[in-house]
Amino acid sequence: MSPRYAGVIFDLDGTLTAPGAIRFDRIRARIGMPTSGSILAWIAAHARDDTDRTRMEAMVWEEERIALERMELGAGFAALVAALEARGPSLDTAICTRNNDEALEAFDRLLRGRGYRPSAELFRVQIARSHHSPHLDRALENKPSPEPVHEIIRRWDLGEVFPPVVAHEHDPPRHEAVLFVGDDVDDCLSARRAGVQSGLIQHGERPAEDPRLSRTVDHRFDDLSQVAAELSRPLRSC
Ligand SMILES: [Mg+2]
Repeated sequence: MSPRYAGVIFDLDGTLTAPGAIRFDRIRARIGMPTSGSILAWIAAHARDDTDRTRMEAMVWEEERIALERMELGAGFAALVAALEARGPSLDTAICTRNNDEALEAFDRLLRGRGYRPSAELFRVQIARSHHSPHLDRALENKPSPEPVHEIIRRWDLGEVFPPVVAHEHDPPRHEAVLFVGDDVDDCLSARRAGVQSGLIQHGERPAEDPRLSRTVDHRFDDLSQVAAELSRPLRSC
């Protein structure tokens, strides 16, 4: 039988959920951040002192809370769930988000409200920001670090099949049977740096093309039904 994907990891905001709930542009305007990229990393690098950092982080948390009320499932979600259920336990699943645990709880409520199974049954491992790793005995680094991917693979009990690698984002993925789907360049960087395949999902949005994407994206998806199709077919060598 042809090899198939063994595991799939999803970003949450703008990937499993529809884009636009979190107003990143408004967060950046409020804290005075001129560029795209990781907001929390920018705050850590640019805050004048602890008070300034706390002030800026409070703005981020406030925008995140507003966004929870606007959270909607991404286009093609039903097709994705059908594909995950068709694969059953032969495909491991995870969510990896830089958002907080509250966002994962809001997503679970949204799923149940729409008649889906609980989030923890569909996505077996869930990692939010500052997740404590029992293995490392400290908080994981956030994406674009490869650490969250390593942690997820370990939690799948696939650490011996896909031992942790730290790769350059331009290296072809060593663990082709694991796919990480996200809507941001940091999702793709985290994937490739952990040696797994990266998939960029756009949900009809056309974000400013980041030059780093051209050599770090293995798949491009318009919506979650295209991810479902990819997960249902035999693995193609990339
Ligand atoms: Mg996202």
